[in-house]
Amino acid sequence: MDNLWNIGTIKSVMERHGFTFSKALGQNFLVNPSVCPKIAEMGNAKKGFGVLEIGTGIGVLTNELAKRADKVVAVEIDERLIPVLNETLAEYDNVKIINDDVMKVDLAKLIEDEFAGLDVAVCANLPYYITSPVIMTLLEQRLPIKTITVMVQKEAGTRLCAKMGTREMGAVTVAINYFATAKVLFNVSRGSFMPPPNVDSCVVQFELRDKTPEGVTDEAFFFKVARGAFSQRRKTLCNSVSSALAIDKQTVAKAIEQASLDANVRPEKLSMQQLICFSEKLRQLI
Ligand code: SAM
Repeated sequence: MDNLWNIGTIKSVMERHGFTFSKALGQNFLVNPSVCPKIAEMGNAKKGFGVLEIGTGIGVLTNELAKRADKVVAVEIDERLIPVLNETLAEYDNVKIINDDVMKVDLAKLIEDEFAGLDVAVCANLPYYITSPVIMTLLEQRLPIKTITVMVQKEAGTRLCAKMGTREMGAVTVAINYFATAKVLFNVSRGSFMPPPNVDSCVVQFELRDKTPEGVTDEAFFFKVARGAFSQRRKTLCNSVSSALAIDKQTVAKAIEQASLDANVRPEKLSMQQLICFSEKLRQLI
């Protein structure tokens, strides 16, 4: 069904199915006609691709993805939306809806079972309460995905797409930059949703790297150091890591020196290679 962005269509579909929005599930549906075609076009929904969507709502984005990609598999947690989707997506035979919590789905198996022989992209207007966990799950599992194109809150988008060595960066920036290159594609105003959220949004894209940066011998330790480094913003690297990881200051200071860094360096000044080098030196000292 087209026109799923139309407020009148949404209202009549909702009325027919007795559906009401759940705030807890982050249900803000898109009512701006230009947004979903743009996400689909820029997000690799095209021939030769299988697209994984997270959170369908009444299927406004699913519809645009199904028009363009070979196959769409969409995970939607709210069972009340399943009969709605059976109606709104009835014309497509290349769409499969999985009624589940995306955080509980075995995504590696899903991709293997559903997208054999296809390249894979993820497209979604994400429920904001699980933005970071979803993105990190998609990245950390090293799934065979080419791109992740998702709508997030504008502020989250700035943090997620921050470059290493800038003020905006945080631990999540390190993780994202480790697995992918990230960019903001376009902004979306709060008025583009029903009901409108309190903040504006943006669509971001992560292009997954073929190879993660070299030099990390223990990824779990590296990310622990990264989280520790940014646990107390604006503190020096030495103080943050020492208190977050409970390692004495002399040892952390020695690792900083061995990594050829300034003794008072702040974490947000570090490049990926510098952070990796520091983490490796620290690992060897403890
Ligand atoms: N794609 C639709 C659109 O753009 O209008 C809906 C987007 S709405 C922001 C987020 C959707 O994610 C809702 O349909 C909600 O029910 C679903 N959702 C929330 N938590 C989820 C979870 N853990 N797993 C799967 N879907 C979830």
